[in-house]
Order: sequence, then structure tokens, then C-alpha cells
Amino acid sequence: MTNKRTVTIARGDGIGPEIMDATLKILEHAGAAIEPEFIDIGEQVYLSGNTSGIPDDAWESLRRNKVFLKGPITTPQGGGYKSLNVTIRKTLGLFANVRPNISYAQFIKTKHPNMDLVIIRENEEDLYAGIEHQQTPEVVQCLKLITRPGSEKIIRYAFEYAKKNNRKKVTCFTKDNIMKLTDGLFHKVFKEVAKEYPDIETEHWIIDIGMAKIADTPQDFDVIVMPNLYGDIASDVAAQITGSVGLAGSANIGDQFALFEAIHGSAPDIAGKGIANPSGLLHGAIMMLVHIGQPDVAARIHNAWFKTLEDGVHTGDIAKGGASVGTNEFAEAVIARL
Ligand code: NAD
Repeated sequence: MTNKRTVTIARGDGIGPEIMDATLKILEHAGAAIEPEFIDIGEQVYLSGNTSGIPDDAWESLRRNKVFLKGPITTPQGGGYKSLNVTIRKTLGLFANVRPNISYAQFIKTKHPNMDLVIIRENEEDLYAGIEHQQTPEVVQCLKLITRPGSEKIIRYAFEYAKKNNRKKVTCFTKDNIMKLTDGLFHKVFKEVAKEYPDIETEHWIIDIGMAKIADTPQDFDVIVMPNLYGDIASDVAAQITGSVGLAGSANIGDQFALFEAIHGSAPDIAGKGIANPSGLLHGAIMMLVHIGQPDVAARIHNAWFKTLEDGVHTGDIAKGGASVGTNEFAEAVIARL
């Protein structure tokens, strides 16, 4: 009997609790050797007056367990509230955000059946470093921070990821025709690090034409590395091209800690209706199981998930007007195929 690994879990806001309960139920039935330790973060914590959205005991749990499965969080709009996602990524040093996007054309409608790309997003710097100032009552400023060590770390991570996963090409997206110093540094470091990996093909695109190419010929991409903001946007676009933002999971990796989640947000427009697709969070959980040394359970869940979709059991976001099931029914269907 494998020892259970304690994992910190936050159900999150909006659709978070619905998709987390569905995901945990599947993990339990699949025999995942994990012991959940729940923490409360997000909307309720913000509204109780804690502007960071995360209490001290939650930090203690994260530091103790080092592995975090997280539901999406609603960041209240307006001044005074810090983005919890940004705070957690920076505090735990989660420098790499790994977001695979794969077409499942056998069972999900998409114009791009051969898409299989991985976006590797720098996760701590760029415009998301959170350095914003009020200059005058009418002028605000946000600093774009790109460092050589940060760029080297994420770009080398992308090449190592490609090597380990038998990927053939690493592409870099920047806007260095305009931002010559910041994006220019990222691109320069990309060219330097690429020399260490002569067996891997490399290319670079300016982000705007790069995104147009993802929309048109995503099958031409393999691993794509880019600064934080571009990666955030590109991964939603890429997930939607595969069929739905509700499909993709992400791994936020650091030297000591790792956080797994869906790429999408808390979807307040459908919260409480029991119709959200739990697949993005489930894919995050599958990556977590591989990370903590339970690849067999991960594979069993992934196969059952495939079979569920193959059998035509689809949530509304991918049924696109056809027959659909709710979150819980979808989870039960996956469990029945384990
Ligand atoms: P969103 O991703 O929550 O929703 C965008 C659209 O996609 C909505 O129409 C929603 O219904 C749909 N959608 C998202 N996930 C789905 C799923 N699993 N199944 C079916 N449909 C799904 O983006 P948003 O509306 O811009 O953001 C809502 C809130 O989420 C904001 O407060 C934002 O800050 C937060 N957010 C959190 C995270 C995170 O915690 N990692 C990420 C992104 C956004």
C-alpha cells in the first residue's frame, strides 16, 4: 500500500467547488494515494478584510505540503486587492507555467485535428510583477520587468521540457520589434540558450503574427516559450481552439513547490448551475499525480476520461448545442470507465 501524500487543496470560487468536488471524487475512485488538506482562500477571505486573500494558516499548509491543487479564484475588481494567483506564484517561486493544448478531434469538434502544443509561460516577471504606480491623478504606470536570470531559467526549462518529452522544436514569442530592451533581452537569451540544444529546432515569431499562426496552423507548433502576459493570453486562445477553455490544465512549477490548476477562471456566469466542465482541473490533477510519482493512477484517469468523451458524454461547453451532461454526471461517467 503506497503511503498517502498530503496535498493542500483550495476549492476556490465560482465554479471552483463544483469542479473540485468532481475531480476529487474521480481521484478517490481511481485510487490516488493522496490525503487532502483543505484551505480557504479567495473571495470570502478578501471580503473578510484580508487584502491578500490568503490567511497565515493557508501559507503554513502550502509550505508544509509543497504540492497544491487549486480551484479558480475570483479577484475582486478595483484597487486594494492583490491578485492571489500572482502572490502565490511569486511567493512560492513558481517560475514555470506549463500549459499543454491538445486537439481531441476524434470526439471534440475543432478545425485543427493535429494540434499538440505546450505553452511554457514565464510566471513571475513581466507586467505581472505587480509594480504599478499612480503617477498623477490622471496617469498610471505599470512596470514591465524582465531579468536575465528569470529569462534564462524559463527558457532553459522549456528546452529541458522539450528534451525530456521528445519534442522537436521550441518557439519563442516576443514583441522585441517594439520593446527592444525587455522583450529584446528575452529573445537574446533565447538565442543564447538555444545553442546549448543543437538537436532541437528553434524559431521566433513576433507575438501578434505568432498568435495568428496558432489560430490558423496550430499543428506547426510544438513547445512555445514566452513572457508572462503573452503566455496568459496565448494559452486561453490555444485551449479554446482545441474546443473549450474548460479543457486545459496547468502546472505551475518551482524549485521547491508546485501548484496545479485549470487554466480558466471561476466562471461566475455559470457558477452554481452544475454545468461546468471539470476537465481542466482534472488535467491539472493528472499532472499533479505524475509530479508526485503516481503516473499509473494518472494514466488510468486519463484513459477513462478519453473513453467518456469517446462515448459521447460531453459537458455543454464542448457539446455546443448537442446533448450534454452536468459536472457531476460527467464525473460519474469517468468513474464508471476507470
Ligand atoms: P473565465 O475563464 O472564468 O470564464 C470565461 C468564459 O469561459 C465564461 O463564459 C465561462 O463560463 C467559460 N468557462 C470557463 N471555465 C469553464 C468550464 N470549466 N466549463 C465551462 N465553461 C467554462 O474568465 P473570466 O470570466 O474572465 O474570469 C472570471 C474570474 O476568474 C475573474 O475574477 C478572474 O480574475 C478569475 N480568474 C482566475 C484564474 C485562476 O484562479 N487561475 C484564472 C483566470 C481568471
